[in-house]
Amino acid sequence: MEGKTQDYLSRPVIEVRNYINGRFVELTEEERKDALDVYSPATGAVIARVPRSTSKQVDEAVRAAKAAFKAWSALSERERADYLEKISKRIAEKLEELADIESYDTGKPLNLARTVDIPRARDNFAFFAGQIRHDFTEAHSNAGSGPLASLNYTHRSPVGVAGLITPWNLPLYLLSWKVAPAIGCGNTVVAKPSELTPLTANALAEICNEIGLPPGVFNVVHGTGASAGQALVAHKDVPLISFTGGTATGAIVNSTAAPLFKKVSLELGGKNATVIFDDVNLDEIMPSIVRSAFANQGQVCLCGSRILVHEKIYETFVEKFAQAVKTTLIPGDPRTSNFGAVISADHMKKVLSYIELAKQEGGTIVCGGKRADLPQPFKNGYFIEPTVVTGLATDSRCAQEEVFGPFVTVHPFKDEAQALEICNSTRYGLAGSLWTNDLKRGHRFAQQWETGMVWVNTWLLRDLRVPFGGVKDSGFGREGGRYAFEFWTNQKNVCIKL
Ligand code: NAD
Repeated sequence: MEGKTQDYLSRPVIEVRNYINGRFVELTEEERKDALDVYSPATGAVIARVPRSTSKQVDEAVRAAKAAFKAWSALSERERADYLEKISKRIAEKLEELADIESYDTGKPLNLARTVDIPRARDNFAFFAGQIRHDFTEAHSNAGSGPLASLNYTHRSPVGVAGLITPWNLPLYLLSWKVAPAIGCGNTVVAKPSELTPLTANALAEICNEIGLPPGVFNVVHGTGASAGQALVAHKDVPLISFTGGTATGAIVNSTAAPLFKKVSLELGGKNATVIFDDVNLDEIMPSIVRSAFANQGQVCLCGSRILVHEKIYETFVEKFAQAVKTTLIPGDPRTSNFGAVISADHMKKVLSYIELAKQEGGTIVCGGKRADLPQPFKNGYFIEPTVVTGLATDSRCAQEEVFGPFVTVHPFKDEAQALEICNSTRYGLAGSLWTNDLKRGHRFAQQWETGMVWVNTWLLRDLRVPFGGVKDSGFGREGGRYAFEFWTNQKNVCIKL
């Protein structure tokens, strides 16, 4: 334990480089001076520096991706799937190392990175390898010998150079979710990871190098969203943009991409509800409810940050929930605890400001409510106690705006209709979970819920074959399974008269 704690302080600052055309690009002295600091969320210390790339580096990467496109897109699905499988295997071999880097960079519990983030990155590549091998084309035949006798088949053409922009909360998990189908479908890629968490994107670049992915198929350009991200979205040779991040940024991305007629997928913010009816066994579901509220310190886009509870069990729920949160989620060293830090000093300030706002809006803090005071070397880390607030109106700012941290509001409801009305009352529509023993009710409720995904009696049970994406201000476009093909390829129908 002591050795592990030491580890945080003794690691050298990592110099992150762009990965363009199969090589890591050395920084000039000037670029080195201008590089951005990357902070450890757990200690507040600088752990890495990333190039502050501009349109120049983005253009270099796009040119490399464009040059690689012809040969890469000409490979068979099977050949590309083989590459994906090799990447998946290499991720599996390096699982511990990657989990360590991800936790170091994000402040998330090492155990979470080890059991969720990295295994999912491995699975994303393996899954899309299979999907592309087995399920790439469709055919519709009109049999017989009449005038309609024909065979229609769908030819899927890769779109070209894909621009991928990803956030900091699940860095490798979300990057791999885009890279795997993008290159599997025959596109080449320029990725712009979050400047707050650049490390596993580079680890993926190393893996691509190790397994012999042809140069230019996968490129990484680091830097701020306003400079590198914007340049990528605006680049004339990038016809496809897959963006995951905040709703305000998504609006900027879309306003740049729309007049250029790019294909765009936007996976944006959320204010997901967790709805608990009075026919459930609270003790049984409590661990799942706690997890759905606070996984990754509440920084999963799918976390349920508004918990709606039937009024008959409301008081009991609040008592049991607060008790479970207080006793099971203990902020501490991400290497050993199950509750880590939030991503940055700015984000910590934002979450703490919502705690203040909750008080001003008349809420009661039933647990948490402040920055967690940890001993060195975590004294300057960005730790916040998991916070539960009751007594707020469902139309209060705290219950309507995305906080994206360890901050949850709990509200009573009197019947199904009212619960549904509260669920649908926000501008967002990403996901939600519903807890009841009445599956007819679960089905009915799910139909009317304005959201992209509904879980009934579970949370974050992800089958990679299903469509993933939001409605309303949570974005548009669907990724995942066969739905991914609609985005990552252009479909052409070929009709052959028989
Ligand atoms: P963000 O919008 O600040 O940044 C996301 C990415 O966009 C980063 O790489 C950033 O550098 C880049 N960016 C910023 N400005 C840009 C611009 N003008 N042009 C192009 N790129 C730009 O989001 P964040 O703070 O990194 O992530 C948190 C947000 O992401 C939350 O709102 C969360 O709900 C959302 N999110 C959504 C999903 C989903 O699947 N819907 C998944 C994870 C996170």
